[in-house]
Amino acid sequence: MSSFSTTEVKPNSTQSLLAMAENLQHEQIVYFNDEETGLKGFIGIHNTVLGPSLGGCRIWNYTDIDSALLDVIRLSRGMTFKSSISGINLGGGKSVIINNNPAQRTEKFWRKFAEYVESLGGRYIAAEDVGTSTKEVSYMMEVTKHVSGKPVEQGGAGDPSPFTAHGVYLGIKASAKKAYGNEDLNGRKVVIQGVGHVGYYLSEMLAKEGAKLFVADLNKSLVKRAVENLNATEIGINEVYSFDADIYAPCALGATLNENTIPQLKCAIVAGSANNQLANEKVDGDSLFKKGIVYAPDFLINAGGVINCYQEIIGYNRDKAMEKVDAIYEQTLNIFKLSETEKISTHSAAEKIALKRIEDTKAKKK
Ligand code: NAD
Repeated sequence: MSSFSTTEVKPNSTQSLLAMAENLQHEQIVYFNDEETGLKGFIGIHNTVLGPSLGGCRIWNYTDIDSALLDVIRLSRGMTFKSSISGINLGGGKSVIINNNPAQRTEKFWRKFAEYVESLGGRYIAAEDVGTSTKEVSYMMEVTKHVSGKPVEQGGAGDPSPFTAHGVYLGIKASAKKAYGNEDLNGRKVVIQGVGHVGYYLSEMLAKEGAKLFVADLNKSLVKRAVENLNATEIGINEVYSFDADIYAPCALGATLNENTIPQLKCAIVAGSANNQLANEKVDGDSLFKKGIVYAPDFLINAGGVINCYQEIIGYNRDKAMEKVDAIYEQTLNIFKLSETEKISTHSAAEKIALKRIEDTKAKKK
């Protein structure tokens, strides 16, 4: 399963995107296009050894169809590792919708999307991601039962973002323990890149503990909310990497850790909610390790949301979900230990644990 474990942000020059998916051992990629509603995008199913694939539906203003395909390839694969390392019985999947017209995003649009989800017969379960919320999930529910993160009023576990934020917060505390010898965040300077659903909940938790927040977001009204409510300081979109902070928390989109940004980092810790933070998992994971930056692997510490969605599927119990999210703290420390002992990046250490569970399960099924 070696090719399963290393990926770059782009296919190499001689490789097509579908060849990249083949190399990463994706099980299925579905392209959908409905002219009437303007719905267009992909559902990616990476691996279903541990259970049906689950992952959020992202709607984004992609510049072209290839960027959307690349995103679904990377995101669905990340979900495989995330569910595996979290000990839940789900595989990795994700969906992306290419759309730059909010007026098109009607109930009918989401019902159409749900028809494509339904056509997969439960191999893919949709939930929230960037651009979607419980409202869209409630439209999907009318067409398919293969959704999670349902509104509380409709019997679901609700928005997964607070659970994701809680896990990231614990990942940051474990990282502080590793970097500074104690997990106290009082007075620590934290850069939050993206103060949307998860970024804002995380900011609230950090502010409560006395951290000093420096926030950047493309959406100025979200920046204003953090500045006014949490006493955060606004910084420029391009200032986040070189800012003199203790902690950088990427909570926007992926691939922000790359050959251009890593040399700029002055922080001791990188830990945030964004999926696929490393542009090139091997190279950039190793760079952070060599630079002595404590990097909490994204798919480990941002698993709170998928854990809560899983609990909704097996029978919702908030305390049980929280107990599983709380385990992120110890698991992060375990990964740091493994990285230290084996002299490998924290990303590689986390990947090793995630892959082992999949391999063991596969072997048992034979
Ligand atoms: P969101 O859309 O609510 O927030 C993302 C924010 O990032 C937006 O406000 C957007 O304006 C901002 N942004 C985008 N590009 C930016 C840039 N270059 N610089 C600064 N800000 C930028 O999404 P969310 O649900 O909070 O998710 C945030 C990240 O966490 C995503 O990568 C998502 O995949 C990941 N994640 C979310 C969950 C969840 O429970 N929602 C779970 C796991 C992982």
